[in-house]
Amino acid sequence: MRIAIIGGGALGSACALFLRRLDAGVAVDVIEPDPGLRLASSARSAASIRQQFSTEVNVKLSRFGLELLRNPDEWLAVDGDAVDLGFVESGYLFIATGEAGAQALRDSNAVQRAAGAAVSLLSPRELAQRVPWLRHDDVQLASLGERGEGWFDGYAFARALARKARAMPVRCGTPARWLASSSAPSACTRCAWPTAAASRPTRSCSPPRVVARGRRAGRRRRAGVRAPAHGVRLQRARAAARARRWSSTRRASGSAARAAASSAAGRRARATPIPTTRRSTNPTSTSSTRGVWPALAHRVPVFAALRRTRARDGYYEVHPLDHNALVGPHPACPNLLLACGFSGHGLQHAAGVGRGIAEWLLRGRYVSLDLSPLSPQRIALGRPLVERAVI
Ligand SMILES: Cc1cc2nc3c(=O)[nH]c(=O)nc-3n(C[C@H](O)[C@H](O)[C@H](O)COP(=O)(O)OP(=O)(O)OC[C@H]3O[C@@H](n4cnc5c(N)ncnc54)[C@H](O)[C@@H]3O)c2cc1C
Repeated sequence: MRIAIIGGGALGSACALFLRRLDAGVAVDVIEPDPGLRLASSARSAASIRQQFSTEVNVKLSRFGLELLRNPDEWLAVDGDAVDLGFVESGYLFIATGEAGAQALRDSNAVQRAAGAAVSLLSPRELAQRVPWLRHDDVQLASLGERGEGWFDGYAFARALARKARAMPVRCGTPARWLASSSAPSACTRCAWPTAAASRPTRSCSPPRVVARGRRAGRRRRAGVRAPAHGVRLQRARAAARARRWSSTRRASGSAARAAASSAAGRRARATPIPTTRRSTNPTSTSSTRGVWPALAHRVPVFAALRRTRARDGYYEVHPLDHNALVGPHPACPNLLLACGFSGHGLQHAAGVGRGIAEWLLRGRYVSLDLSPLSPQRIALGRPLVERAVI
């Protein structure tokens, strides 16, 4: 059996790795036009992991992601080389300033704890004791990850996944080389995936394909259906500071911040989708300072004295229906699997999704964790699986 994976970022590489782990006999091609991942979201990510989601499947995907981050040598080492992912464990802090937000934190907390996550709800008094440098007079309730959350080096993670996949081994190449090769697939009449000119149409993708093209997943229509994922530009800015270690902090309006030993980082999403064809990732000059800093300084007064030193843009691949990923067979073609639309949490879920896609393709069902809530069928059925904890 041969399987083609379109896109060699964290998601594509994780799919390849787990396919080969599950069945050493399966042949896997990873097709990637940008092997250095220069423009991939996986290389431009803030690369955090959290257990604080509102849907069970997302909490459980993060729990498996955590397993890889805590034991990278066990999962990702090649020839005994140690793998350093720079994982720093430090909890996310969500805060609610009104009753609706507080209730949402309580509801999510019940889901998180049932899935085994260590997350505490804090009253304003408890918040003041544990996080004294944060303005808390307008806070109604807070939610703090006690363990299993933090940040890591996203590029190192994506590269380690790719290196391990290659060592399994899987075959990697550019789209042109793949289409030109003798094993190029035949055209699919259902999803009309492009193919070598000489090959004949078949009724379903053959060999099976996994679409892990990140923000470019929604660029083409397949069988009249476009994967509803598009790029939204985000900016990460770094500021000089002498700060103590503190958690990632999040506001409902879409800005977030975190700090390590000697620097602080803020990030912000531009609300409007950017055409996915646009390749530029140059930072927009002052938007992070104007948009994020006042909000951060309101919550964390030390931000008022910080100065932006560096900024970098990247793209979220957003699925606007419910901000949850699309994972599983395309509604029109059972052999075309989607792994896209992660809406800003794809890196931490790459391992769990890669494992699930491998199980689906090789066992015909999800074995370790049921990913069917993320099935693209929900779009056709008009049944969103709403994720409330979107950053
Ligand atoms: C600023 C920012 C902050 C983020 N913060 C976090 C975070 O804190 N935690 C988290 O978990 N996630 C975060 N994310 C999201 C996360 O980085 C992405 O969800 C994840 O990296 C997506 O991985 P991917 O492999 O699907 O896509 P990508 O890494 O974008 O890879 C897709 C690949 O597909 C290739 N491709 C495109 N077109 C084709 C084609 N036609 N044929 C073959 N290949 C093609 C591209 O070259 C690319 O290399 C963040 C993202 C950004 C931008």
